[in-house]
Amino acid sequence: MNNQVAVGNTITDSARAAFAADCLRRDVCLAWLAGQLHPAGGRCPECGAAVPDRQINRWRSFGRLECCECGRWFSAASGTWMAGAKLAPNQVFVLAVLLSMDVDVALIASAIGASEVTVRFWRDKFMTLQEVS
Ligand SMILES: [Zn+2]
Repeated sequence: MNNQVAVGNTITDSARAAFAADCLRRDVCLAWLAGQLHPAGGRCPECGAAVPDRQINRWRSFGRLECCECGRWFSAASGTWMAGAKLAPNQVFVLAVLLSMDVDVALIASAIGASEVTVRFWRDKFMTLQEVS
């Protein structure tokens, strides 16, 4: 009996073809991204007030909330490299994982449902963030 897993068999090919950013749980990707953007926790980008416990789930899901101290409206993306991003958190997560594995830009674009130009833009953005930190 052969215990080796065949490379390129129909199951792995099918899984690769079906793989997309939509396969992932949104809440897991959002929590990962919020942690990347705010390792010290949620705070108002204007006055620095901590996000109250009663609003933390809304903040973690990148919903907009109003600061209890200064009244500014913000989300977890406000004032970060995700501000104004056209990609959803699950797309950013998959993009980052596949870039770390040196996957071809065209394959990444297919997996996240974006253009190759977009993938290259984010690859450069991540490299810049890495240089800054
Ligand atoms: Zn504030």
